[in-house]
Amino acid sequence: MKEKTTQKITSSARRIVEVPELGGVVLAKSRRARRLSMTITPYKGIRVAVPYRVSFADAEAFLASHLGWARKNLERVAKIRKAHESTLAGLPAIRPNRARVMLKNRLCELAQRYGFSYNRVAIRNQKTRWGSCSHVNNINLNINLVRLRPELMDYVILHELLHTRVKNHSRTFWVQLDGLVGDARGLDKELKKHVLGLTAASECERSSNEARDDDNRSDYGGLFDRL
Ligand SMILES: [Zn+2]
Repeated sequence: MKEKTTQKITSSARRIVEVPELGGVVLAKSRRARRLSMTITPYKGIRVAVPYRVSFADAEAFLASHLGWARKNLERVAKIRKAHESTLAGLPAIRPNRARVMLKNRLCELAQRYGFSYNRVAIRNQKTRWGSCSHVNNINLNINLVRLRPELMDYVILHELLHTRVKNHSRTFWVQLDGLVGDARGLDKELKKHVLGLTAASECERSSNEARDDDNRSDYGGLFDRL
């Protein structure tokens, strides 16, 4: 099957290929990529990560051989995006400045109550994460957390605070989180009903090597958590 594609060269490290039905696909050279992989995310669309040693021609061939997969998953991701938008539309409205103050205060309060310390905090209008904690204990919180019921908001804050001590989702992590919030798994399940929490499922990835080790992903931009 031959697909007609047009190519726009944007730089030596990035190209945009127009593919019928898919729209613009970004081919981007990546120092972290060890093999060709295609990712579809609700807000960023389709992106092919291209290791420096691999040519753009090979990246296009990889894309051409996965068009069926891309079409199917683009549709799936578009549905998730719609659901995400209606999730937010269904939550109460917020005033951003008030929300930032509320979240920072609550983080500080809970950290003090349970003896946690963190480095920096950033409150953002993130599209795909409720919260994250970096290896140097910088905490990111989603501004929309204040729109959830208070127990869920506290759950996310305490989940990230606990990551300052336990850098994984091991049994120990969940046992300790239970000690802080009660039914941690139950709250986690409830949070995942809000579509933002479906990040891992809403992002599709297809790699040129299917034996990719998912437990050892390093493409989270230095963040180990994607709550
Ligand atoms: Zn986590």
